[in-house]
Amino acid sequence: MGAQTRERRIVSTQKWAISPLLVALCLVIGAVSGSAQSRVRVKPDISDCLNVRSRPETSSASKTCLAPGTEAEVRDSVPYWLRIRVDGGTVGWAAKRYLVGIEASTPSPAEPSPAVAAQANAWLEVHVVDVGQGDGIWIHTFDDSVRGNGMFEGKNIVIDGGPDASDDKNEMLHYLQRRLPDGSLIDALIITHPHDDHYPGAAGVLNHFEISDYYDPAYPKEGPKYNNFLALVGSEIARGQPIRLHMGKAQFGVPDWGSELKPEFLYSYPGNPSGLGSGNTLENNASIVLKLTYGDVSFLFMGDAEGKNRSDPPTTPKYAERILLNEFPASRLKSTVLKIAHHGSESSSTLPFIQAVDPEIVLVSSGRKVFAGTFIPDRSTLQRYCAHNPRIRIYRTDQDDEAEHRTTADDQDGDNIVVRTNGKTVQVQAFSNGHPLPAPTACSP
Ligand SMILES: [Zn+2]
Ligand SMILES: [Zn+2]
Repeated sequence: MGAQTRERRIVSTQKWAISPLLVALCLVIGAVSGSAQSRVRVKPDISDCLNVRSRPETSSASKTCLAPGTEAEVRDSVPYWLRIRVDGGTVGWAAKRYLVGIEASTPSPAEPSPAVAAQANAWLEVHVVDVGQGDGIWIHTFDDSVRGNGMFEGKNIVIDGGPDASDDKNEMLHYLQRRLPDGSLIDALIITHPHDDHYPGAAGVLNHFEISDYYDPAYPKEGPKYNNFLALVGSEIARGQPIRLHMGKAQFGVPDWGSELKPEFLYSYPGNPSGLGSGNTLENNASIVLKLTYGDVSFLFMGDAEGKNRSDPPTTPKYAERILLNEFPASRLKSTVLKIAHHGSESSSTLPFIQAVDPEIVLVSSGRKVFAGTFIPDRSTLQRYCAHNPRIRIYRTDQDDEAEHRTTADDQDGDNIVVRTNGKTVQVQAFSNGHPLPAPTACSP
């Protein structure tokens, strides 16, 4: 892909209108220019009227309340909410579940069309939550309000849960609770590997939401802590059905998260530790590696998969990166957005791997914890990405944490990253202490 194309596709996020009052809770996304406009109608079975709110959250002020049958024009979409314009000019947010799509040209109540037929409005969102040192990622597919047609079903996918099992400190849980309606279904919980910075917080997600499918690398982790967690997973009931367990790559299959989305489990623990190192290195190399493709845009989620020892030169891949490079041509690894491996540690991101993935956007999930005498991400790792392509933009969940003298006790401070794509363009909004950051202008290690 040429440089000009890249530049066109990565849209600066500054057009997103963010209210300072809102930033800790949710995103407000400005009208998407140039997209086809679709119309919706308030469902007839609503008891009273449908509030049109100033922000996409039930606690925000109501601007107006629409009677059943009222029509409106769709301006934008975020998980569970549509931004609509009512005849008369009022623009605000209404809960998607109370709206049904109508065909602008050929109205046909018997066959409701998608609420938002225009692909330009069909945003997939990926939220990298600031869980401190660890990983916690929420993916929400676009919901067109048409149930059961197999696409745009508003699926929730969670990759890892961060380090905090207790409800009061569990930032992954809090983040989801602020955005998902009570009783929401999580369609997939993926624990990349059984390290303490990846799975404990998922216990809170299990306790407060219903999870239908669980994916685990089936690495033989010893000791009671992880096995207690697995017992909690095994007792989960979602929509009256026991959770479906996918233990090990052979049981992963190809999940159905909507026909618009192509998920690929590229790697997971192969069942044999040979060639994967020992101790923490081995456990990191058990990580589930997931690729998601939506239209022209792809995401690669690396877990903590490694590519070398810390002291090795970055020229020769080992471990999981070697296996990925041996198994797949570069075209299969190539991804628009890379959730960098192992919090940006020097033990991952070898040069051949960076060349193959060739990302445009790099997401780093990291906090303030010393590993082997150093904080991660390693500057040297990020420098390799900038040297590969100075147009790469790097976003971090440890944004400003060092300057703020944060420690593992207080590094969960709202440095979240929200990526959304309609399969063509990609928009990124990163936050520092809950405040939206301007788009970066250069690749900065
Ligand atoms: Zn980790
Ligand atoms: Zn790890």
